[in-house]
Amino acid sequence: MLREIVNIKEGIHDFCATSTPGEMELDYGNGLFTEPVIFKGTENRKGDDIIIKGVVKTEILVNCVRCLKDFRYSLCTKIQLYVKLVGGGSSCTVVWQDDYVRAQAYGTLDLSPRIRDALIIELPLKPLCSDDCRGLCPVCGMDLNKGTCNCTVKEPSSVWNTLEDLKGKNTALKKEGKNGPSKEKNIKIAG
Ligand SMILES: [Zn+2]
Ligand SMILES: [Zn+2]
Repeated sequence: MLREIVNIKEGIHDFCATSTPGEMELDYGNGLFTEPVIFKGTENRKGDDIIIKGVVKTEILVNCVRCLKDFRYSLCTKIQLYVKLVGGGSSCTVVWQDDYVRAQAYGTLDLSPRIRDALIIELPLKPLCSDDCRGLCPVCGMDLNKGTCNCTVKEPSSVWNTLEDLKGKNTALKKEGKNGPSKEKNIKIAG
């Protein structure tokens, strides 16, 4: 997402720009960037100081972690950049330090790195098609958002239940005399 700095006039002006996910080099392991990235905001120039701020929007196609269904997830985030113009060169070199940029007055500002960072933070780690998605039955694989099946799913026992189970088994083993051979019986006397 490029912006020619000479085209940024004094005062506050609307600024909109669109780039494809490919141009922005956007990549997401758990899904696909399917829509253009749109920036809508303002540019505010006072001499060598420029503030660019606005909202970045796009959409990704992701898998729900519970029901594995594809769904569209909207990404929307705000960015604000402070640009300080240095010298009058036409070099494209831009030095980024968080939201602060030093750029050549006749250069080209590439907003992509900052926008990419802002979007990556917004990516869902565990995408859910809805907060109350019921997921798939672990036994038959049925989508439980569409109906119910007759499988019985054993609730995972709590730590206390597990301890009680172990205690029970231990007592049973002792009663049956299967708690391992006693030491005395195990000793073999040589000769
Ligand atoms: Zn789901
Ligand atoms: Zn089932």
